[in-house]
Amino acid sequence: MVALLHLIGLVGDPASAAALSNHVHAASWGAILTGMLWGIVIIPIFYAMSFYVVLRERFLLLLSARAFSNIVFIFGMSAFVIDGLPAPDSPARYWATLWGFNILVALAGPFLKAYLEPGCVDRWVNWALCLIFPFVIAKTIVQPLWTPGSTAAALSSLLYVPVLGVIVFALGQAFRRGSRAATFQIVGWAPLILVCTEILLRGIFGFARPPGIDIAILGATAFEFCVGAVGVADRFYRLRQERDEAHERADAADRLARTDPLTGIANRRALEQRYARALEQNETVAAVAVFDLDYFKRINDRHGHDVGDDVLRTVARTLGEEGGLTARMGGEEFALLVFTGDPEVTAEAARQRIPVRVAEKVPGLSLPVTASLGLARVVRGEPLREALRRADEHLYIAKREGRNCGRWSTPPIPQQVAAAVRAAA
Ligand code: GH3
Ligand code: MG
Ligand code: MG
Repeated sequence: MVALLHLIGLVGDPASAAALSNHVHAASWGAILTGMLWGIVIIPIFYAMSFYVVLRERFLLLLSARAFSNIVFIFGMSAFVIDGLPAPDSPARYWATLWGFNILVALAGPFLKAYLEPGCVDRWVNWALCLIFPFVIAKTIVQPLWTPGSTAAALSSLLYVPVLGVIVFALGQAFRRGSRAATFQIVGWAPLILVCTEILLRGIFGFARPPGIDIAILGATAFEFCVGAVGVADRFYRLRQERDEAHERADAADRLARTDPLTGIANRRALEQRYARALEQNETVAAVAVFDLDYFKRINDRHGHDVGDDVLRTVARTLGEEGGLTARMGGEEFALLVFTGDPEVTAEAARQRIPVRVAEKVPGLSLPVTASLGLARVVRGEPLREALRRADEHLYIAKREGRNCGRWSTPPIPQQVAAAVRAAA
Protein backbone atom coordinates (compact mmCIF):
# COMPACT_ATOMS: atom_id res chain seq x y z
CA MET A 1 0.00 0.00 0.00
CA VAL A 2 2.85 2.33 0.85
CA ALA A 3 4.27 1.48 -2.47
CA LEU A 4 0.98 2.24 -4.20
CA LEU A 5 0.84 5.65 -2.60
CA HIS A 6 4.36 6.31 -3.74
CA LEU A 7 3.63 4.78 -7.07
CA ILE A 8 0.86 7.21 -7.86
CA GLY A 9 3.19 10.00 -6.90
CA LEU A 10 1.07 11.41 -4.08
CA VAL A 11 3.13 10.28 -1.11
CA GLY A 12 6.86 10.36 -0.61
CA ASP A 13 9.24 7.50 0.05
CA PRO A 14 8.05 4.17 1.42
CA ALA A 15 9.44 4.80 4.91
CA SER A 16 7.57 8.05 5.48
CA ALA A 17 4.28 6.43 4.61
CA ALA A 18 4.92 3.23 6.52
CA ALA A 19 2.77 4.34 9.42
CA LEU A 20 -0.22 4.53 7.14
CA SER A 21 0.15 0.94 6.15
CA ASN A 22 0.70 -0.58 9.55
CA HIS A 23 -2.95 -1.34 10.10
CA VAL A 24 -3.04 -3.49 7.01
CA HIS A 25 -0.33 -5.66 8.44
CA ALA A 26 -3.01 -7.10 10.64
CA ALA A 27 -5.01 -9.91 9.16
CA SER A 28 -7.30 -7.68 7.03
CA TRP A 29 -5.69 -8.28 3.69
CA GLY A 30 -2.97 -10.71 4.29
CA ALA A 31 -2.43 -14.18 3.11
CA ILE A 32 -6.01 -15.02 2.15
CA LEU A 33 -6.61 -11.97 -0.01
CA THR A 34 -3.22 -12.25 -1.70
CA GLY A 35 -3.78 -15.94 -2.34
CA MET A 36 -7.24 -15.31 -3.77
CA LEU A 37 -6.03 -12.52 -6.01
CA TRP A 38 -3.11 -14.59 -7.21
CA GLY A 39 -5.43 -17.48 -7.93
CA ILE A 40 -7.68 -15.25 -10.02
CA VAL A 41 -4.76 -13.86 -11.98
CA ILE A 42 -2.76 -17.08 -12.41
CA ILE A 43 -5.59 -19.08 -14.03
CA PRO A 44 -5.60 -16.95 -17.24
CA ILE A 45 -1.87 -17.67 -17.66
CA PHE A 46 -2.55 -21.41 -17.77
CA TYR A 47 -5.40 -21.25 -20.17
CA ALA A 48 -3.82 -18.56 -22.37
CA MET A 49 -0.76 -20.78 -22.72
CA SER A 50 -2.83 -23.86 -23.56
CA PHE A 51 -4.79 -21.79 -26.12
CA TYR A 52 -1.49 -20.59 -27.55
CA VAL A 53 -0.51 -24.16 -28.37
CA VAL A 54 -3.57 -24.34 -30.64
CA LEU A 55 -3.62 -20.81 -32.00
CA ARG A 56 -0.44 -18.72 -32.05
CA GLU A 57 -2.13 -15.41 -31.34
CA ARG A 58 -0.01 -12.63 -29.85
CA PHE A 59 -2.75 -11.42 -27.53
CA LEU A 60 -2.53 -14.71 -25.61
CA LEU A 61 1.15 -14.06 -24.84
CA LEU A 62 0.39 -10.47 -23.91
CA LEU A 63 -2.43 -11.60 -21.62
CA SER A 64 0.00 -13.95 -19.85
CA ALA A 65 2.65 -11.22 -19.55
CA ARG A 66 0.04 -8.85 -18.05
CA ALA A 67 -1.15 -11.54 -15.66
CA PHE A 68 2.45 -12.13 -14.56
CA SER A 69 2.94 -8.36 -13.97
CA ASN A 70 -0.26 -8.37 -11.94
CA ILE A 71 1.07 -11.20 -9.77
CA VAL A 72 4.20 -9.14 -9.11
CA PHE A 73 2.04 -6.07 -8.42
CA ILE A 74 -0.18 -7.96 -5.96
CA PHE A 75 2.90 -9.32 -4.23
CA GLY A 76 4.38 -5.82 -3.93
CA MET A 77 1.15 -4.36 -2.58
CA SER A 78 0.27 -7.09 -0.12
CA ALA A 79 1.42 -7.43 3.44
CA PHE A 80 1.77 -11.14 2.92
CA VAL A 81 4.94 -12.52 4.54
CA ILE A 82 6.49 -15.32 2.51
CA ASP A 83 9.61 -17.08 3.72
CA GLY A 84 12.52 -16.40 1.42
CA LEU A 85 10.83 -13.45 -0.33
CA PRO A 86 11.36 -9.77 0.54
CA ALA A 87 9.36 -8.53 3.55
CA PRO A 88 6.44 -6.11 3.21
CA ASP A 89 7.52 -2.47 2.89
CA SER A 90 11.00 -3.54 1.85
CA PRO A 91 12.50 -1.72 -1.15
CA ALA A 92 12.08 -4.91 -3.17
CA ARG A 93 8.33 -4.81 -2.60
CA TYR A 94 8.34 -1.17 -3.64
CA TRP A 95 10.03 -2.05 -6.92
CA ALA A 96 7.69 -5.00 -7.40
CA THR A 97 4.70 -2.67 -7.02
CA LEU A 98 6.16 0.04 -9.22
CA TRP A 99 7.14 -2.24 -12.10
CA GLY A 100 4.32 -4.74 -11.67
CA PHE A 101 1.68 -2.02 -11.97
CA ASN A 102 3.35 -0.06 -14.73
CA ILE A 103 4.09 -3.05 -16.94
CA LEU A 104 0.47 -4.07 -16.44
CA VAL A 105 -0.58 -0.64 -17.73
CA ALA A 106 2.12 -0.47 -20.42
CA LEU A 107 1.08 -3.82 -21.94
CA ALA A 108 -2.59 -2.84 -21.98
CA GLY A 109 -2.05 -0.94 -25.24
CA PRO A 110 -0.29 -3.67 -27.25
CA PHE A 111 -2.68 -6.23 -25.75
CA LEU A 112 -5.73 -4.31 -26.97
CA LYS A 113 -4.19 -3.81 -30.40
CA ALA A 114 -3.58 -7.56 -30.77
CA TYR A 115 -6.84 -8.59 -29.15
CA LEU A 116 -9.46 -6.35 -30.80
CA GLU A 117 -10.86 -7.59 -34.09
CA PRO A 118 -8.87 -6.26 -37.07
CA GLY A 119 -10.23 -3.02 -38.49
CA CYS A 120 -12.41 -2.10 -35.50
CA VAL A 121 -10.23 0.88 -34.60
CA ASP A 122 -8.56 3.47 -36.87
CA ARG A 123 -4.92 2.99 -37.81
CA TRP A 124 -3.77 5.94 -35.72
CA VAL A 125 -5.55 4.47 -32.69
CA ASN A 126 -3.59 1.26 -33.19
CA TRP A 127 -0.40 3.30 -33.28
CA ALA A 128 -1.41 5.18 -30.13
CA LEU A 129 -2.09 1.84 -28.41
CA CYS A 130 1.41 0.64 -29.33
CA LEU A 131 2.98 3.88 -28.05
CA ILE A 132 1.50 3.29 -24.59
CA PHE A 133 4.20 0.71 -23.91
CA PRO A 134 7.34 2.88 -24.42
CA PHE A 135 5.57 5.88 -22.89
CA VAL A 136 4.68 4.12 -19.62
CA ILE A 137 8.05 2.37 -19.42
CA ALA A 138 9.85 5.71 -19.84
CA LYS A 139 7.67 7.23 -17.14
CA THR A 140 8.44 4.31 -14.80
CA ILE A 141 12.18 4.65 -15.36
CA VAL A 142 12.27 8.35 -14.50
CA GLN A 143 9.67 8.19 -11.73
CA PRO A 144 12.11 7.25 -8.92
CA LEU A 145 14.31 10.20 -9.94
CA TRP A 146 11.70 12.73 -8.88
CA THR A 147 11.99 13.91 -5.31
CA PRO A 148 9.36 12.01 -3.38
CA GLY A 149 6.53 14.26 -2.29
CA SER A 150 7.47 17.04 -4.72
CA THR A 151 4.92 18.68 -6.97
CA ALA A 152 6.70 17.14 -9.94
CA ALA A 153 6.27 13.68 -8.42
CA ALA A 154 2.59 14.36 -7.74
CA LEU A 155 2.02 15.73 -11.21
CA SER A 156 3.74 12.70 -12.75
CA SER A 157 0.54 10.77 -12.14
CA LEU A 158 -1.07 13.04 -14.74
CA LEU A 159 1.01 11.22 -17.32
CA TYR A 160 -1.51 8.39 -16.99
CA VAL A 161 -4.20 10.70 -18.41
CA PRO A 162 -3.28 10.25 -22.10
CA VAL A 163 -2.80 6.51 -21.49
CA LEU A 164 -6.27 6.20 -20.00
CA GLY A 165 -7.61 8.46 -22.76
CA VAL A 166 -6.22 6.27 -25.56
CA ILE A 167 -7.54 3.06 -23.95
CA VAL A 168 -11.01 4.53 -23.34
CA PHE A 169 -11.12 6.00 -26.85
CA ALA A 170 -10.00 2.74 -28.49
CA LEU A 171 -12.53 0.67 -26.55
CA GLY A 172 -15.29 3.20 -27.32
CA GLN A 173 -14.49 3.26 -31.04
CA ALA A 174 -14.28 -0.53 -31.25
CA PHE A 175 -17.55 -0.85 -29.32
CA ARG A 176 -19.35 1.57 -31.66
CA ARG A 177 -18.13 -0.50 -34.60
CA GLY A 178 -19.70 -3.63 -33.10
CA SER A 179 -16.58 -5.24 -31.59
CA ARG A 180 -17.60 -8.08 -29.32
CA ALA A 181 -14.07 -8.25 -27.89
CA ALA A 182 -14.27 -4.57 -26.85
CA THR A 183 -17.54 -5.19 -24.97
CA PHE A 184 -15.85 -7.72 -22.69
CA GLN A 185 -12.93 -5.40 -22.03
CA ILE A 186 -15.18 -2.41 -21.32
CA VAL A 187 -17.01 -4.39 -18.63
CA GLY A 188 -13.74 -5.81 -17.30
CA TRP A 189 -11.88 -2.50 -17.24
CA ALA A 190 -14.69 -0.27 -16.00
CA PRO A 191 -13.83 -0.64 -12.27
CA LEU A 192 -10.11 -0.19 -12.96
CA ILE A 193 -10.71 2.91 -15.05
CA LEU A 194 -12.96 4.28 -12.29
CA VAL A 195 -10.40 3.77 -9.52
CA CYS A 196 -7.61 5.16 -11.70
CA THR A 197 -9.76 8.21 -12.45
CA GLU A 198 -10.36 8.66 -8.74
CA ILE A 199 -6.61 8.51 -8.07
CA LEU A 200 -5.91 11.00 -10.81
CA LEU A 201 -8.57 13.43 -9.61
CA ARG A 202 -7.26 13.06 -6.07
CA GLY A 203 -3.80 13.83 -7.41
CA ILE A 204 -5.07 17.02 -9.03
CA PHE A 205 -7.53 18.27 -6.39
CA GLY A 206 -5.85 16.79 -3.32
CA PHE A 207 -8.99 15.50 -1.58
CA ALA A 208 -8.83 12.86 1.13
CA ARG A 209 -8.03 9.26 0.32
CA PRO A 210 -11.24 7.25 0.49
CA PRO A 211 -11.01 4.19 2.76
CA GLY A 212 -10.44 0.91 1.00
CA ILE A 213 -9.12 2.44 -2.20
CA ASP A 214 -6.08 0.13 -2.15
CA ILE A 215 -8.25 -2.95 -1.95
CA ALA A 216 -10.44 -1.40 -4.64
CA ILE A 217 -7.51 -1.09 -7.05
CA LEU A 218 -6.37 -4.66 -6.43
CA GLY A 219 -9.94 -5.91 -6.70
CA ALA A 220 -10.35 -3.93 -9.93
CA THR A 221 -7.24 -5.47 -11.50
CA ALA A 222 -8.42 -8.94 -10.45
CA PHE A 223 -11.90 -8.22 -11.83
CA GLU A 224 -10.33 -7.05 -15.07
CA PHE A 225 -8.61 -10.41 -15.36
CA CYS A 226 -11.78 -12.36 -14.56
CA VAL A 227 -13.97 -10.64 -17.15
CA GLY A 228 -11.10 -10.01 -19.55
CA ALA A 229 -10.24 -13.69 -19.37
CA VAL A 230 -13.75 -14.66 -20.39
CA GLY A 231 -13.47 -12.18 -23.27
CA VAL A 232 -10.14 -13.67 -24.32
CA ALA A 233 -11.59 -17.19 -24.21
CA ASP A 234 -14.51 -15.96 -26.32
CA ARG A 235 -12.17 -14.36 -28.85
CA PHE A 236 -10.04 -17.51 -28.92
CA TYR A 237 -13.05 -19.73 -29.68
CA ARG A 238 -14.27 -17.38 -32.38
CA LEU A 239 -10.82 -17.19 -33.94
CA ARG A 240 -10.54 -20.96 -33.88
CA GLN A 241 -13.98 -21.25 -35.45
CA GLU A 242 -12.97 -18.74 -38.15
CA ARG A 243 -9.75 -20.68 -38.74
CA ASP A 244 -11.62 -24.00 -38.98
CA GLU A 245 -14.15 -22.47 -41.37
CA ALA A 246 -11.33 -21.02 -43.47
CA HIS A 247 -9.68 -24.47 -43.58
CA GLU A 248 -12.98 -26.06 -44.59
CA ARG A 249 -13.48 -23.44 -47.30
CA ALA A 250 -9.93 -24.00 -48.54
CA ASP A 251 -10.46 -27.78 -48.53
CA ALA A 252 -13.75 -27.40 -50.38
CA ALA A 253 -12.13 -25.04 -52.91
CA ASP A 254 -9.27 -27.49 -53.32
CA ARG A 255 -11.67 -30.41 -53.80
CA LEU A 256 -13.61 -28.34 -56.32
CA ALA A 257 -10.41 -27.43 -58.15
CA ARG A 258 -9.58 -31.14 -58.47
CA THR A 259 -13.04 -32.38 -59.40
CA ASP A 260 -14.83 -32.45 -62.72
CA PRO A 261 -18.16 -30.72 -62.04
CA LEU A 262 -20.23 -32.79 -64.49
CA THR A 263 -19.18 -36.29 -63.49
CA GLY A 264 -17.80 -35.71 -59.99
CA ILE A 265 -14.63 -37.67 -60.79
CA ALA A 266 -11.08 -36.30 -60.83
CA ASN A 267 -10.09 -33.73 -63.43
CA ARG A 268 -6.80 -33.38 -65.26
CA ARG A 269 -5.25 -31.43 -62.41
CA ALA A 270 -6.09 -34.17 -59.88
CA LEU A 271 -4.65 -36.76 -62.25
CA GLU A 272 -1.42 -34.78 -62.46
CA GLN A 273 -1.25 -34.45 -58.67
CA ARG A 274 -1.88 -38.16 -58.14
CA TYR A 275 0.79 -39.06 -60.69
CA ALA A 276 3.25 -36.64 -59.07
CA ARG A 277 2.56 -38.20 -55.68
CA ALA A 278 3.18 -41.65 -57.09
CA LEU A 279 6.51 -40.48 -58.53
CA GLU A 280 7.46 -38.88 -55.22
CA GLN A 281 6.63 -41.97 -53.20
CA ASN A 282 8.24 -44.36 -55.67
CA GLU A 283 4.88 -45.97 -56.30
CA THR A 284 4.58 -47.95 -59.51
CA VAL A 285 2.22 -46.62 -62.17
CA ALA A 286 1.80 -49.43 -64.65
CA ALA A 287 0.18 -47.46 -67.48
CA VAL A 288 -1.80 -44.45 -68.59
CA ALA A 289 -4.89 -45.15 -70.70
CA VAL A 290 -6.91 -42.53 -72.59
CA PHE A 291 -10.46 -43.16 -73.77
CA ASP A 292 -12.35 -41.06 -76.31
CA LEU A 293 -16.01 -41.70 -77.08
CA ASP A 294 -16.68 -42.44 -80.71
CA TYR A 295 -18.89 -40.06 -82.68
CA PHE A 296 -20.16 -38.62 -79.46
CA LYS A 297 -21.31 -35.48 -81.23
CA ARG A 298 -24.04 -37.58 -82.81
CA ILE A 299 -25.44 -38.51 -79.37
CA ASN A 300 -25.77 -34.82 -78.54
CA ASP A 301 -27.21 -34.02 -81.96
CA ARG A 302 -29.81 -36.78 -81.80
CA HIS A 303 -30.76 -36.87 -78.13
CA GLY A 304 -29.78 -33.50 -76.76
CA HIS A 305 -27.04 -32.26 -74.51
CA ASP A 306 -28.67 -33.51 -71.27
CA VAL A 307 -28.71 -37.10 -72.52
CA GLY A 308 -25.11 -36.60 -73.65
CA ASP A 309 -24.31 -35.53 -70.07
CA ASP A 310 -25.96 -38.67 -68.70
CA VAL A 311 -23.81 -40.75 -71.00
CA LEU A 312 -20.66 -38.96 -69.80
CA ARG A 313 -21.59 -39.58 -66.16
CA THR A 314 -22.21 -43.26 -66.90
CA VAL A 315 -18.88 -43.60 -68.69
CA ALA A 316 -17.12 -41.96 -65.70
CA ARG A 317 -18.71 -44.46 -63.30
CA THR A 318 -17.92 -47.38 -65.59
CA LEU A 319 -14.24 -46.53 -65.85
CA GLY A 320 -14.17 -46.04 -62.07
CA GLU A 321 -15.13 -49.69 -61.61
CA GLU A 322 -11.60 -50.65 -62.57
CA GLY A 323 -9.89 -49.12 -59.56
CA GLY A 324 -6.87 -46.94 -60.28
CA LEU A 325 -7.64 -43.29 -60.88
CA THR A 326 -10.18 -42.20 -63.46
CA ALA A 327 -10.16 -38.60 -64.62
CA ARG A 328 -12.13 -36.62 -67.15
CA MET A 329 -9.61 -34.84 -69.33
CA GLY A 330 -12.23 -32.65 -70.99
CA GLY A 331 -15.16 -33.11 -73.39
CA GLU A 332 -15.73 -36.81 -74.01
CA GLU A 333 -12.17 -37.83 -73.21
CA PHE A 334 -11.18 -39.75 -70.06
CA ALA A 335 -7.94 -41.12 -68.63
CA LEU A 336 -7.22 -44.03 -66.35
CA LEU A 337 -4.09 -44.46 -64.26
CA VAL A 338 -3.51 -48.19 -63.83
CA PHE A 339 -1.30 -49.05 -60.89
CA THR A 340 -1.20 -52.81 -60.78
CA GLY A 341 -2.00 -55.93 -62.80
CA ASP A 342 -2.12 -56.14 -66.58
CA PRO A 343 -2.97 -52.62 -67.67
CA GLU A 344 -3.93 -53.57 -71.25
CA VAL A 345 -6.38 -56.14 -69.93
CA THR A 346 -7.80 -53.75 -67.35
CA ALA A 347 -8.19 -50.86 -69.78
CA GLU A 348 -9.58 -52.93 -72.61
CA ALA A 349 -12.12 -54.57 -70.29
CA ALA A 350 -13.21 -51.12 -69.12
CA ARG A 351 -13.49 -49.91 -72.73
CA GLN A 352 -15.64 -52.83 -73.72
CA ARG A 353 -17.89 -52.40 -70.71
CA ILE A 354 -18.79 -48.82 -71.79
CA PRO A 355 -21.47 -49.68 -74.42
CA VAL A 356 -22.94 -52.29 -72.05
CA ARG A 357 -23.27 -49.91 -69.10
CA VAL A 358 -24.47 -46.98 -71.22
CA ALA A 359 -27.18 -49.15 -72.77
CA GLU A 360 -28.26 -50.14 -69.24
CA LYS A 361 -28.20 -46.72 -67.69
CA VAL A 362 -29.23 -44.50 -70.60
CA PRO A 363 -31.83 -46.55 -72.46
CA GLY A 364 -33.40 -45.51 -75.75
CA LEU A 365 -30.26 -44.35 -77.53
CA SER A 366 -30.45 -44.74 -81.30
CA LEU A 367 -26.84 -45.97 -81.52
CA PRO A 368 -24.42 -47.72 -79.17
CA VAL A 369 -21.86 -45.58 -77.37
CA THR A 370 -18.41 -47.01 -77.95
CA ALA A 371 -14.97 -45.72 -77.11
CA SER A 372 -11.49 -45.87 -78.56
CA LEU A 373 -8.55 -46.49 -76.29
CA GLY A 374 -4.88 -45.60 -76.40
CA LEU A 375 -2.56 -46.94 -73.74
CA ALA A 376 1.07 -46.36 -72.84
CA ARG A 377 3.00 -48.36 -70.32
CA VAL A 378 4.75 -45.96 -67.99
CA VAL A 379 8.52 -46.00 -67.96
CA ARG A 380 9.63 -45.58 -64.34
CA GLY A 381 10.06 -41.90 -63.48
CA GLU A 382 8.88 -40.50 -66.81
CA PRO A 383 6.80 -37.31 -66.74
CA LEU A 384 3.05 -37.74 -67.09
CA ARG A 385 3.07 -35.42 -70.10
CA GLU A 386 5.28 -37.87 -71.95
CA ALA A 387 3.21 -40.94 -71.02
CA LEU A 388 0.01 -39.12 -72.06
CA ARG A 389 1.58 -38.12 -75.37
CA ARG A 390 2.34 -41.74 -76.18
CA ALA A 391 -1.12 -42.87 -75.06
CA ASP A 392 -2.67 -40.20 -77.31
CA GLU A 393 -0.63 -41.44 -80.26
CA HIS A 394 -2.15 -44.86 -79.79
CA LEU A 395 -5.61 -43.38 -79.35
CA TYR A 396 -5.27 -41.72 -82.76
CA ILE A 397 -4.16 -45.04 -84.22
CA ALA A 398 -7.29 -46.66 -82.73
CA LYS A 399 -9.46 -43.91 -84.24
CA ARG A 400 -7.73 -44.22 -87.59
CA GLU A 401 -8.13 -47.96 -87.61
CA GLY A 402 -11.88 -47.78 -87.31
CA ARG A 403 -12.68 -46.74 -83.69
CA ASN A 404 -14.24 -48.98 -81.02
CA CYS A 405 -10.87 -50.61 -80.35
CA GLY A 406 -7.81 -50.26 -78.15
CA ARG A 407 -4.18 -49.75 -79.19
CA TRP A 408 -1.03 -49.84 -77.04
CA SER A 409 2.68 -49.89 -77.51
CA THR A 410 3.52 -53.19 -75.83
CA PRO A 411 2.85 -56.33 -77.85
CA PRO A 412 -0.86 -57.15 -77.59
CA ILE A 413 -1.83 -60.08 -75.43
CA PRO A 414 -4.95 -61.31 -77.24
CA GLN A 415 -5.75 -64.34 -75.10
CA GLN A 416 -5.62 -62.40 -71.86
CA VAL A 417 -7.69 -59.57 -73.30
CA ALA A 418 -10.26 -61.94 -74.68
CA ALA A 419 -10.50 -63.79 -71.35
CA ALA A 420 -10.92 -60.56 -69.42
CA VAL A 421 -13.56 -59.32 -71.84
CA ARG A 422 -15.48 -62.55 -71.49
CA ALA A 423 -15.31 -62.28 -67.70
CA ALA A 424 -16.55 -58.66 -67.77
CA ALA A 425 -19.42 -59.33 -70.14
P1 GH3 B 1 -14.60 -38.83 -82.66
O1 GH3 B 1 -15.00 -40.26 -82.77
O2 GH3 B 1 -13.70 -38.44 -83.78
O3 GH3 B 1 -14.00 -38.54 -81.34
O4 GH3 B 1 -15.90 -37.98 -82.81
P2 GH3 B 1 -16.64 -37.12 -81.73
O5 GH3 B 1 -17.94 -36.66 -82.24
O6 GH3 B 1 -16.69 -37.87 -80.46
O7 GH3 B 1 -15.61 -35.97 -81.54
P3 GH3 B 1 -15.75 -34.44 -81.66
O8 GH3 B 1 -14.47 -33.88 -81.09
O9 GH3 B 1 -16.11 -34.03 -83.07
O10 GH3 B 1 -16.96 -34.06 -80.76
C1 GH3 B 1 -16.91 -34.16 -79.35
C2 GH3 B 1 -18.27 -33.77 -78.83
O11 GH3 B 1 -18.32 -33.89 -77.44
C3 GH3 B 1 -18.64 -32.38 -79.18
C4 GH3 B 1 -19.31 -31.85 -77.93
O12 GH3 B 1 -20.64 -31.44 -78.23
C5 GH3 B 1 -19.34 -33.02 -77.02
N1 GH3 B 1 -19.10 -32.60 -75.68
C6 GH3 B 1 -17.97 -32.09 -75.13
N2 GH3 B 1 -18.16 -31.82 -73.84
C7 GH3 B 1 -19.45 -32.17 -73.54
C8 GH3 B 1 -20.25 -32.10 -72.37
O13 GH3 B 1 -19.81 -31.67 -71.29
N3 GH3 B 1 -21.52 -32.54 -72.40
C9 GH3 B 1 -22.06 -33.02 -73.59
N4 GH3 B 1 -23.31 -33.43 -73.58
N5 GH3 B 1 -21.33 -33.07 -74.70
C10 GH3 B 1 -20.04 -32.66 -74.70
MG1 MG C 1 -14.84 -38.47 -79.55
MG1 MG D 1 -12.48 -36.00 -78.28
